[in-house]
Amino acid sequence: MQVPHIPLTGSCTLVGAGPGDPELLTLKAVKAIARATLILVDDLVNEAVLVHAQPGARIVHVGKRGGCSSTPQSFIEKLMITAVREGEHVVRLKGGDPYVFGRGGEEVQHLGEAGIRVEVVNGITSGLAAASSLGAPLTHRDHAHGVLFITGHAKPGGRMPDWAALAATAHAEQLTFVIYMGVSGAQQIEAGLLSGLPGSTPAALVQHASLPTQRQALTTLDQLHATLVREELGSPCIIVVGDVLRGVACAANNVPELARRMAV
Ligand code: SAH
Repeated sequence: MQVPHIPLTGSCTLVGAGPGDPELLTLKAVKAIARATLILVDDLVNEAVLVHAQPGARIVHVGKRGGCSSTPQSFIEKLMITAVREGEHVVRLKGGDPYVFGRGGEEVQHLGEAGIRVEVVNGITSGLAAASSLGAPLTHRDHAHGVLFITGHAKPGGRMPDWAALAATAHAEQLTFVIYMGVSGAQQIEAGLLSGLPGSTPAALVQHASLPTQRQALTTLDQLHATLVREELGSPCIIVVGDVLRGVACAANNVPELARRMAV
């Protein structure tokens, strides 16, 4: 396809704002925010990062706050294209990393089709922040060969991951699960994973990772959904499942019942 040539003076940068703690922003992200004339802010971005914006910058919230529906993706993309063509320095701030379940790929593609090159600045994804806040080394070589970043929520019309198949692979190959958007499907995820992993497999839920409001619970796979309900944990939440949590369980020596269930 012929891409139209448009002389540009503006710029567009997709910036990962990290998991929440504003100190986890990269230096590159800070520079991009400071240069921006228009900043489009997603839902899970901590407002505190906007302290780096210049006083005259236009800040537009495009997430679904307070139960309102979010700004349609096509509208956001049109806004970005128009602003760049008018010479603005546009920053699109996204929670975590723009390319980890952040729809960054779609935006880069659509702006590319409009002749606009997008720079992407990585952010620390919430799955990493959640694991380290628990003290869980995701790839501890005694327990794991690798890690699966996976969604617990299919896109409309899409299919859910095959949890049973994944569990069998994870069991055989020692993989850690880091599950995004898993709250509403937790019961289904638990049931699927239990067909390939022992019920005693350690599991953890971390809500608001890296923020002062962080809450977490350590449990076993067979108690995942019950723990979520009992502890009243909700979105945004990361679910970690795997033996890399055993060290965390050992350290939590005030929970002998949990250690017994995990058979540590
Ligand atoms: N691009 C983001 C993910 C966006 S998808 C990233 O890299 O982190 C939205 C999901 O991310 C949420 O449903 C939740 O599972 C997770 N999430 C985002 N921020 C979080 C946080 N501070 N604590 C726990 N989970 C978080």
